[in-house]
Amino acid sequence: MASTVPELKPSSRLLLGPGPSMVHPRVLRAMSTPLLGHLDPEFLVIMNEVQGMLRTVFQTENPFTIAISGTGSAGMEAALVNVVEPGDKVIVCVAGVFGARLAEIVGRCGGQLVKLEVPWGQVFTLDRIEEALRKEGRVRAVAIVHAETSTGAQQPLDGLGKLCRDHGALLVVDAVTSLGGVPVEVDRNGIDVCYSGTQKCLSCPPGLAPLTFSPRALELVRARKHKVQSWYLDVSMIADYWADGKRAYHHTAPISMVYALRESLRLVLEEGLEPRFARHRRHSAAVMAGLAELGCTPNAAEGHRLPSLNCVRTPEGVNDEAPIRKALLADHGIEIGGGLGPLVGKIWRIGLMGESSRQEHVLAVLAALEQALA
Ligand code: PLP
Repeated sequence: MASTVPELKPSSRLLLGPGPSMVHPRVLRAMSTPLLGHLDPEFLVIMNEVQGMLRTVFQTENPFTIAISGTGSAGMEAALVNVVEPGDKVIVCVAGVFGARLAEIVGRCGGQLVKLEVPWGQVFTLDRIEEALRKEGRVRAVAIVHAETSTGAQQPLDGLGKLCRDHGALLVVDAVTSLGGVPVEVDRNGIDVCYSGTQKCLSCPPGLAPLTFSPRALELVRARKHKVQSWYLDVSMIADYWADGKRAYHHTAPISMVYALRESLRLVLEEGLEPRFARHRRHSAAVMAGLAELGCTPNAAEGHRLPSLNCVRTPEGVNDEAPIRKALLADHGIEIGGGLGPLVGKIWRIGLMGESSRQEHVLAVLAALEQALA
């Protein structure tokens, strides 16, 4: 019987929300390349290439630098389920939805959660975290979000790695909305565990979570008293799957996604990290200036605004912002994000990440918003 489901023909969209971002045609082409077996010697070379490029983008020498099969949340779980053993004290810095998700996972790991909070849109000072480390005594890890997608705030990481090390704690950083668009500098910042997602500043479809562990973090994982409760995300086994020369079967890597990530990383490195970060800053400044003209005010604290995700309070008099977002999608094919949690109805989140961070996209979204607000 013939299928009644029509051929897939999604509408054309300009993706300027909190993710996924636009994907370069080269990445889409790479995804349609014929498959290799995941243990084919040629695919093993591709895995090595991806690892090498991920190290460059994370700015790390960590041998354990891989892509977890799963989205950013799988990276987050992989980071925490490996680091946290039942009873371990973990300080989690919560300034939005994704900090709260970190806290939720620590609880599920049986960790003793020490939650630090600041109002959404603000960031943590080193002093605040130091005070908690002094007070709590033995702490297994400090977990923090570098780029809080729900508020548009960029958490400074300067000095945090050293502080954690001085107190014998690991530093776990969520770089889902920063990697490839904002410097993360894993080694310089002394980050022990860092994860990201492919669908933001790397401009690849969602499906893989870049992840890196410092040798110190990996050693602690290997010395665990209890088995990691997740079989799928146990990095000691995944390490053997990605280790050159070993490649012990663990699961079947999503081949087409690995092709896509390889191509998107090639694009990042062709552009160069510094020029890419500068491009994100330039287009963020432009869109924020235009949004100010439309009566929007920045949501995140001054000096701590993310260039990859531009969050603004909606203009005065706009009591219901959802119809405006709907009009942008229906009339212009442009996707932007609304607020989450306590920010529902109050903010817009305009992602200018990777391929989405282009001058023509800034102009398009500003023109469309101006029309919708008129
Ligand atoms: N962490 C942050 C900061 C995010 O922005 C997101 C997704 O938007 C995640 C984690 C979870 O990633 P995913 O939705 O790919 O599972």
